[in-house]
Amino acid sequence: GGLVVSFGEMLIDFVPTTSGVSLAEAPGFLKAPGGAPANVAIAVARLGGKAAFVGKLGDDEFGHMLAGILKQNGVSGDGLSFDKGARTALAFVTLKSDGEREFMFYRNPSADMLLTPDELNLDLIRSAKVFHYGSISLIVEPCRSAHLKAMEEAKKAGALLSYDPNLRLPLWPSAEEAREQIMSIWDKAEVIKVSDNELEFLTGSTTIDDATAMSLWHSNLKLLLVTLGDHGCRYYTKDFKGSVDAFKVDAVDTTGAGDSFVGALLGKIVDDHSILEDESRLREALTFANACGAITTTKKGAIPALPTVSEALELIKKSSS
Ligand code: ADP
Repeated sequence: GGLVVSFGEMLIDFVPTTSGVSLAEAPGFLKAPGGAPANVAIAVARLGGKAAFVGKLGDDEFGHMLAGILKQNGVSGDGLSFDKGARTALAFVTLKSDGEREFMFYRNPSADMLLTPDELNLDLIRSAKVFHYGSISLIVEPCRSAHLKAMEEAKKAGALLSYDPNLRLPLWPSAEEAREQIMSIWDKAEVIKVSDNELEFLTGSTTIDDATAMSLWHSNLKLLLVTLGDHGCRYYTKDFKGSVDAFKVDAVDTTGAGDSFVGALLGKIVDDHSILEDESRLREALTFANACGAITTTKKGAIPALPTVSEALELIKKSSS
């Protein structure tokens, strides 16, 4: 199979043991490995695909723990760098009673922000069949330049570019800056996945309809996806559009559902880009991706909840009977 290379941040989420309380009131925290691009790489590998993660970690216990998690999950660490000075990023998560999450980040700067263009493993990046990234790596230099170079090199070598902006507003100096930077690389990506909230943020529209989604269309784009939580997803290509319903599950923690969804889809596309042009096969791949997203909500944390192929197929079978 072809290689999916995912670029960006990997960090530790500290998740309160009790939901619906403030950080100050939280009696304790569980450490959960996270960072959307790392989750996507692990999702691909868990489903039996080939994946690598490119990014920088602190040369500290947390950084080495995260590198170990990639390795245990079969994700290549050949693109990892370790910073001697800066720490691995941390995020403290508030679980609100409505299930929404808020993040307080410790990055001043963290190791991931210090990845330089010179540190990139270009051989690895050039061997990608799909190159996936977010927008957190665009926020500051030198990581921003490293991101742009990696994207450029992957593209030149023939990779399909996949983008999940993964908006984390508190990390940006302002909302305008976030919107501007996220859009600055918009027309490079051939596959883009946004959540309903991100669609609202990027378009400024409060109606989530086809016209709003299509206002984000660009001519290099092959597939635009809008994920809608327990309402499934919508898809747009230049020739067809539609939606695929979600699976009914008992959701306990939606962390990583979007990453699981993206990983599942990229794992299918990587060996056969023609899925993007064939609606029935695309719908099949999105059904699989929805199943993977759904399963990820049924367990706490992102990485521990990423499914195997048999778990996903079992949910699809159970739901159709
Ligand atoms: P993100 O994590 O990027 O916000 P979503 O929460 O929309 O993305 O989740 C991605 C996909 O995971 C959805 O399109 C859906 O298929 C699945 N999913 C998410 N939440 C649920 C849920 N509560 N029940 C069933 N499926 C879900």
